[in-house]
Amino acid sequence: METIRLNEIEDRDFIERLSRESGQAVENCYQCGKCTAGCPVSFAYDFMPHQVMRLVQMGLKEEVLRCQSIWLCASCVTCTVRCPRNIDVAMVMDTLRIMARQKGIVPPGRSRNVVLFNNNFLKSIQKYGRLFELATMAIFNLKTGHPFRETDTGLTMLRRGKLKLWVTKPRGLEEVNRIFEKVHQTEKEV
Ligand code: SF4
Ligand code: SF4
Repeated sequence: METIRLNEIEDRDFIERLSRESGQAVENCYQCGKCTAGCPVSFAYDFMPHQVMRLVQMGLKEEVLRCQSIWLCASCVTCTVRCPRNIDVAMVMDTLRIMARQKGIVPPGRSRNVVLFNNNFLKSIQKYGRLFELATMAIFNLKTGHPFRETDTGLTMLRRGKLKLWVTKPRGLEEVNRIFEKVHQTEKEV
């Protein structure tokens, strides 16, 4: 097994912060690869889950925060339940995404669409208190330059009443907005 010597570690503060915020002992990973073997979307990753863990252990902050894998992760937690060292790898991925966002890192390649989708999703929740699917998908299609993507599916869903042309705002929208304000405030303080 490869030994990590202290002088090879790039950014100790990053490792400590990630461990603290994710609640995971990332140094316990012994690179068995079980997380990667079970990951259903690793075919699209630039770094496999066990490689992401290795980058973290090495304190290679820039490399790991700028990789596509952290955005393509589907949070299915297969890696987490398979890890023989009880590391919640999905939580590590989640924490890396938060850190990348806080640093204002623009995700590379196709993972940019994941961020765009997430942003549209959250804007819909903030504005309507629930997901307005039709508007969310239409805006996403326009922003990604494919205005007619999946229109056949959309029309079929509309005909069957699975999609609505409008959305009714729920009671409790003010509470939802307060949550968003609190999150934005916390982001500013970080
Ligand atoms: S399954 Fe756990 S110990 Fe094995 S490589 Fe993945 S994170 Fe490391
Ligand atoms: S949580 Fe993410 S990294 Fe883990 S198995 Fe699922 S998709 Fe892969």
